[in-house]
Amino acid sequence: MTFSRDEEFAQQLDAKDPLHSFRDRFHLPLGNNGEPLIYFAGNSLGLMPKSAKQIVEQELEDWARLGVDAHLKGKTPWYSYHETLREPTARLVGAQPSEVICMNSLTVNLHLMMATFYRPTNSRFKILMEEPAFPSDTYAIKTQIVHHRFEPREALVLARPGEGEFTVRTEEILDLIEKHAGELAVVLIGGVNFFTGQLFDIPTITTAAQKHGIPVGIDLAHAIGNVPLFLHDWNVDFAVWCSYKYLSAGPGAVAGVFVHERHATNTDLPRLAGWFGNDPTTRFRLHLEPEFIPVASADGWQISNPPILSMAPLRASLAIFEEAGGMESLRQKSVKLTSYLQFLLEDGGSRKRFNVITPREVTERGCQLSIQVQEHPKVLFGKLGAAGVKCDFREPNVIRAAPTPLYNTFHEVWRFANILG
Ligand SMILES: *Cc1c(COP(=O)(O)O)cnc(C)c1O
Repeated sequence: MTFSRDEEFAQQLDAKDPLHSFRDRFHLPLGNNGEPLIYFAGNSLGLMPKSAKQIVEQELEDWARLGVDAHLKGKTPWYSYHETLREPTARLVGAQPSEVICMNSLTVNLHLMMATFYRPTNSRFKILMEEPAFPSDTYAIKTQIVHHRFEPREALVLARPGEGEFTVRTEEILDLIEKHAGELAVVLIGGVNFFTGQLFDIPTITTAAQKHGIPVGIDLAHAIGNVPLFLHDWNVDFAVWCSYKYLSAGPGAVAGVFVHERHATNTDLPRLAGWFGNDPTTRFRLHLEPEFIPVASADGWQISNPPILSMAPLRASLAIFEEAGGMESLRQKSVKLTSYLQFLLEDGGSRKRFNVITPREVTERGCQLSIQVQEHPKVLFGKLGAAGVKCDFREPNVIRAAPTPLYNTFHEVWRFANILG
């Protein structure tokens, strides 16, 4: 697609955008001048769907009106509340419904998945990750290693960008898998890297690791709701994600996991269990059933009864994703939005001052562009904020801007590039 710098061009793209009306479904934070901010921070906290308030209030009302009976008699009964999330979530990640469960928070879920999939032996105890990874993942993985009485220094294998590069080459990951093939216990990759916005080649990495019997886990924090995913067909072993970034399900919203069918149905797999992972037919026999019998699906990893008040806004946002036509339709607009932003940043002489470190290939990125600023990055970031732009800054000199297809416009991209220029 060819782009133009004219403001009118941006306005035309908005006029032709089939998803344009979805912007109206979200609360847009306002700046000092009373106008909506240019909100490019959906990679940190997605905006609030207007429908979230009513759906949460419904649960508060059911609690007030019914007390404990809301478990079975509420408008959406709490006992099976998590089941209402199953199918739309499965569609977002390309899974069978039985392969996903929404629960807990992301890092907790990562630990739970590692309890099942990281079963190190003296010869096979290493974990391959990319660098830089999000710190919470690094802390989780290092403490998993220590928990099993190994040394992070010996057990952690890091795939790094090459000299003078910012993103990790797939070949580097494949080389490390080959080099440590006999010693790797797990490969854990962030689907989209939080810092660079790089989208990894998940199917290629998965095939390469599984050839050596190494299970593959994917952290989808920056991928879910951002790029189309096909976890089942890619044969990924497990995945984890949070729901407050692109999924717009609210601060600390309930997160999720994917366990591939071939593991999910295996009730012999070790896990850290709780009563909601137990077979529902015996769950309420309580102390009469001291033996844990896991559900033969991803539900078998669920531990506690579902947090209704943090699941309710997720129902609101999943409904919007469905109505918008799912990830295929959102991705079409997303590719256009981000390519347009890249065009504007690189055209017109600003290229010398800004360096986009996110991959140029649309197949290797989601919606985020990470913009390295050569001079006075912090001053520039402060000025962006003062001009009504909400994006974020990552040390030492990177501004992350994530135009999202549900509530951002081409005209906002145009204004952002103008302000930055
Ligand atoms: C946002 C993010 C997290 C946050 O973890 P929580 O457990 O939700 O607080 C972890 N890992 C990655 C890769 C992230 O992007």
